[in-house]
Amino acid sequence: MVHSIYSNKDSFLRELISNASDALDKLRIEGLTDKDLGADISDLHIRLTPDAQARTLTISDNGIGMSRDEVIDLIGTVAKSGTAELRRTLAEADKAASEELIGQFGVGFYSTFMVADEVTLVTRKAGESVGTRWSSTGDGTYTIDDVDDAPQGTSITLALSPVDEENAVNDYTDRFVLRQLVKKYSDFIAWPIRMLSEPTEPTEPTDGDDTPEPAEPVDETLNSQKALWSKSKSEVSDEEYADFYRHVSHAWDEPLETISLHAEGTFEYQALLFIPTQAPFDLFMRERSSGIHLYVKRVFIMDDADELMPEYLRWVQGVVDAADLSLNVSREILQQDRQIRAIRRRLVKKVISTVQEIADTRPDDYKTFWENFGRAFKEGLVNDADNAQAILKASMFASTQSETEQTRLADYVTRMADGQDVIYYMTGESRTQIESSPHLEAFRAKGIEVLLLSDPVDEVWVGAVGEFDGTKLVSVAKGVVDLEGDDADKIDDAQNEEFKPLLDWLGESLADEVSSVRLTSRLTDSAACLVGDEFSMTPQLEKLYRASGQ
Ligand code: ADP
Ligand code: MG
Repeated sequence: MVHSIYSNKDSFLRELISNASDALDKLRIEGLTDKDLGADISDLHIRLTPDAQARTLTISDNGIGMSRDEVIDLIGTVAKSGTAELRRTLAEADKAASEELIGQFGVGFYSTFMVADEVTLVTRKAGESVGTRWSSTGDGTYTIDDVDDAPQGTSITLALSPVDEENAVNDYTDRFVLRQLVKKYSDFIAWPIRMLSEPTEPTEPTDGDDTPEPAEPVDETLNSQKALWSKSKSEVSDEEYADFYRHVSHAWDEPLETISLHAEGTFEYQALLFIPTQAPFDLFMRERSSGIHLYVKRVFIMDDADELMPEYLRWVQGVVDAADLSLNVSREILQQDRQIRAIRRRLVKKVISTVQEIADTRPDDYKTFWENFGRAFKEGLVNDADNAQAILKASMFASTQSETEQTRLADYVTRMADGQDVIYYMTGESRTQIESSPHLEAFRAKGIEVLLLSDPVDEVWVGAVGEFDGTKLVSVAKGVVDLEGDDADKIDDAQNEEFKPLLDWLGESLADEVSSVRLTSRLTDSAACLVGDEFSMTPQLEKLYRASGQ
């Protein structure tokens, strides 16, 4: 059996369920504000009724319903707003191409014609006594009649096209398929989506020879209805959050931190984000995309919504539910959407400030975080100039202060020696390699702390960022380092005179390798070291460029 192949055509179900959910929302609001409406709002729900024999699928709701005029206006022409344009485009494309397009972008009610030869809609508006039946084969024409005994709400029956396994079209009368599709696309819809189970075969009698009764079909609710992101943090248990985290991330660990955001105002959205405890194995693989799932009013739109989270935060998992986006939103549209950009800005700031909070209050968790995600997080120092200072503040680095513990820059600054007004660092391939460098000698001798930066990305950000909170970052491998104010690395004329022959000879012998040779006070054990001039590249960066062929 070929089950569970997701096809573009599946999106018709998501569209109809979303319409039904809107209709239930509207009725609930009407019912609350208009006491004389005379509509029953006690058991609002959506129902799927598959019929394999008749090859039909009915999606019904007991929501607001439509008047005859509304049916003609909204459904009749199926030429509403944006869809009209799309339909013209579709008319020019061939059938396969147009189905691909509808599936990708969804075009609301019209998407039913991807899977049905004929669609019949019966509806009665809350508060009205006569209902309407509308029917069409999707050729642009339709029939419409009054119905005296229509139940309140809307029910849409699709006469399904034949099953087409070759083109991976699912059998939408198969309860298994329907369960899966609802789980994938509509699990968090706030209203129950129900379906009667198939009447089961009688079970074996357990004792005696009573003939067992055939089991009654059971009414199942297919969706969990749990949009945890729409609840406030106090209403949800840690266990529920952890389960949900594992559901969206397909991971097995516990979230290190849960972030819940409810934004109102210009752009209304809710976000539920998780910082994982463990890094996924593919964190540094090229194809790794963001862990953000995008919903629009609880309807699943897409996973990997890269537009909502920058690359350096690709380890953040979770859900963003934006109220005002269209269900048909595509990646192309997302990239240009002002609202998406605003949401992203806010989410980024929130994630960084959460890392800062963990750093300030939970040292052990912060260490775990840093071991797993520090290297990715630091990419933001290069790629996100707006937030670089905040990222730097929430980062930590190895330093000569401790063999085992890393330090945050704010702590480094509090330990700076009298008269020291810059943060010293040295880059290299590893801590051991850096520590054996003669450049560190004078700093070690004078007890001045130096950051030991050995990640490839360190080389790049340290040049790009340049300072921390107003304090310059200075490489110990460059230029004249001013260790003790005026008299540091100062050699008097007499010394220069004395060593002139040696310096001249070295200068001539090494003319092709170095630009000058001079005396220094910065070394204590070693006889000589190479120094870059203040504006040259550091040796690491030179290597990086050379390796990339520049
Ligand atoms: P959209 O949902 O984007 O407006 P659709 O093509 O899905 O576009 O639906 C068109 C309109 O038809 C809806 O806006 C709504 O007014 C009406 N409609 C569709 N389905 C239902 C329903 N189940 N109950 C009430 N009204 C509905
Ligand atoms: Mg719709």
